[in-house]
Amino acid sequence: MTGNEIGLDVGIESFYTDSNGYQESNPKFLRKAEKSVKHAQRRIYKKKKGSLGRKKTRGIFARKHLRISRQRNEHAKRLARNVCKSNDLVAYEDLQVRNLLRNHCLAKSIADASWYLFRQWIEYFAGKFGKLAVAVAPHYTSQKCSSCGVIVKKSLSTRTHACSCGCNLHRDENAAINILNLAKQARDGQSRSNAVGVGISTLVGESLLEQILT
Ligand SMILES: [Zn+2]
Repeated sequence: MTGNEIGLDVGIESFYTDSNGYQESNPKFLRKAEKSVKHAQRRIYKKKKGSLGRKKTRGIFARKHLRISRQRNEHAKRLARNVCKSNDLVAYEDLQVRNLLRNHCLAKSIADASWYLFRQWIEYFAGKFGKLAVAVAPHYTSQKCSSCGVIVKKSLSTRTHACSCGCNLHRDENAAINILNLAKQARDGQSRSNAVGVGISTLVGESLLEQILT
């Protein structure tokens, strides 16, 4: 037991923001690799169907794609392992894959897919280390004040949470604290706590990425 508990809020701005105010930045190597994969993919269609050139460019694309999948998986795995090692409870939002795929903003989709992969590793390591992983419903987590509970309306571009009660936080830190609080409620109520370290295959996250990247 570590005595630590953590809430994670996923975003585009950073890979995640936790309830302690720490922001894990997005890996730049992945963003670069994504560009390169997209470029390789476009090149395929410039070659004649059935030609040797097309076969070659297809091979280049497949190799790059596999490489980025592995890098992303390693990155998600390493972060998830660290988070589960240093906390007894890990809370995050229960984002639905179905909703993720409906999103048309590419950057957002890729971030969501990475997050999904990360989440699966969290559940895997939580099970392995005997920690509690709790997914909470994503309701008002960014709008609610984590200190006094009132709703403080903000648009997507508002990056800070400033409440009349005196609570001033980064928007995502406020959300992460709400996520942690919801998870604690669920645990203490013993009612809605689910997702306790099930060793789900990471393939789901990978195939989600395939759908987005291809
Ligand atoms: Zn407040």
